[in-house]
Amino acid sequence: MQQTKQSHRCPAKVLQRGNDFRRGAIPHDHPADLGLLHKVKIARQVKDAATSDVYRPAKRLVEAAFHDNIKETDFCLPNPELIARRANRCRQTMRPPEPRGLDFSGEEDAIPDGFLLNVIRMDDARHIIMATQQQLRILQTAKKVVP
Ligand SMILES: [Zn+2]
Repeated sequence: MQQTKQSHRCPAKVLQRGNDFRRGAIPHDHPADLGLLHKVKIARQVKDAATSDVYRPAKRLVEAAFHDNIKETDFCLPNPELIARRANRCRQTMRPPEPRGLDFSGEEDAIPDGFLLNVIRMDDARHIIMATQQQLRILQTAKKVVP
C-alpha cells in the first residue's frame, strides 16, 4: 500500500503468508514510482550513517549516498532536502541537548590535550578559549590584528 498524497491512500493491498506474496483484489490507483528503488537505497544508507555518526552534517551524508547510488542517467530521484531533514529528525534524540544557559558542562574528554586553554567568565558571558600550538605560534609572531 502506497500513499500518493497526504489526503489520499492507495486502496491496493498485498497478502503475505510466509514468503508468499499475493496481489489483493483492488489494483493501485496511481502510476508506479520509478525512482522507488533509489529512494529506498539512499534513505537506508543515510539513516544508517546518520545514526552511527550523529555529528556529521546530514547534507554530506545525502551527497555521499547520491554519489554511491545514482548514475547520470537515473531519473525520478528523491529530494535530497527531505532525506537530510528525515535523517536529522531520526537522530535528534541521539544528540545531547543544546545548552540553555552558561552553566553547561561539555565533554572535556572529547577535546584534544592542550586544545582547551581557559574558560573565562565576565559578567553575563562565558568565553571558552581554544587553540592549537600552531595557532599560538602564529599569534605570537603576528604584528597586526585584522578586525
Ligand atoms: Zn498503490
